Amino acid sequence: MVEISVKSRSRTEFIDITPRIAEQIPGDFSGLVHVFSAHTTAGLTINENADPDVVGDMMRQLEKMVPWNGGYSHAEGNSAAHLKASMLGFSQFVPVHDGRLRLGVWQAVYFCEFDGPRQRRVVLTYLRD
Ligand code: ZN
Repeated sequence: MVEISVKSRSRTEFIDITPRIAEQIPGDFSGLVHVFSAHTTAGLTINENADPDVVGDMMRQLEKMVPWNGGYSHAEGNSAAHLKASMLGFSQFVPVHDGRLRLGVWQAVYFCEFDGPRQRRVVLTYLRD
């Protein structure tokens, strides 16, 4: 198990953490890497990294679906972030072969901040073939 730290810079931000994950994987490892966001207001997703408009559209559409000021009860005032994080989920599995992530050509692993800016933790767990 390895932990990486991720620093977000705005309230909502999708951060491509693929290189941070890749650099942690031992060269002889084949199996699955489980990527876990250890937070209640930040999730993870896998999607396109070629056109930045894709994650931009995702962030804008999520904001329309779950607006920050939505008349929620939670006293901390960040219910929208909790909701969006749960909608995307808190973990992803990525296949690895001989130390290389086997993502699709246009895929990246995004850390999805919904209540930043904050210092965050992502936990990687390796499951060997
Ligand atoms: Zn809260």
